[in-house]
Amino acid sequence: MTAVVGVLVPAAGQGLRLGAGPPKALRELAGEPVLVHAVRGLRSCPSVGPVVVAAPAADVEAVRALLAPYDVVVVAGGAERQDSVRAALAALPSEVELVLVHDAARCLTPVEVVERVVAALRSGAAAVVPVLPVADTVKQVADDRVVRTVDRAVLRSVQTPQGFQRGVLEQAHAGAAPGGTDDAGLVEAMGTPVVCVRGADEAFKVTRPLDLLLAEALLAMTAPVHARHGGGRHAG
Ligand code: C5P
Repeated sequence: MTAVVGVLVPAAGQGLRLGAGPPKALRELAGEPVLVHAVRGLRSCPSVGPVVVAAPAADVEAVRALLAPYDVVVVAGGAERQDSVRAALAALPSEVELVLVHDAARCLTPVEVVERVVAALRSGAAAVVPVLPVADTVKQVADDRVVRTVDRAVLRSVQTPQGFQRGVLEQAHAGAAPGGTDDAGLVEAMGTPVVCVRGADEAFKVTRPLDLLLAEALLAMTAPVHARHGGGRHAG
């Protein structure tokens, strides 16, 4: 039988780098919250089964109402991203064997990226990350002085969804010290191999005000013609 794929969506961040306003997942893009775009995208992926969203604690009821059409479970997130992932993991239905962790803020991630991560898990990988080459020159610094230039050929930017065999992710979170690492980082710390697949430019994380403009421009390009002329906003 094909293994069931579940997705955890940490969406409980405040999004302080976006400036004043509602929590990031509830900011509007083309008239709908970032989180709605993210969940709709996941629901259009053929492999995706149960979805658990970790929302800001104060907004759990509002997020439940917002996501009612998408058949998701909503739990309260925590102070750190890692706490939010752990809360969502605890609510994941027992039949799920393959788990994706996908930031709500990467709300325009193409279906193909999700399916590439799932395919690698189905081929037996313990953990999978979508990556892109690094465009900028990268330098190591100390106190605003350059120490050295890092060879960017060996560097990758890491996106989400990150994918895991369920037992691997549960073990990683059970033993994790608090800290700022991503989920794959916790798995690396156990000595478990993490596999890379190709990410996509569109899977960028909405972090700064400029990202909102970019996301709106992309949505305007992909919206059906009638929506672009004011007949509706849904790209389907
Ligand atoms: O802050 P950052 O951009 O790294 O957050 C990545 C994702 O983690 C976002 O979708 C954000 O909502 C989520 N997050 C969370 N709980 C926190 C902090 C961040 O679910 N306490």
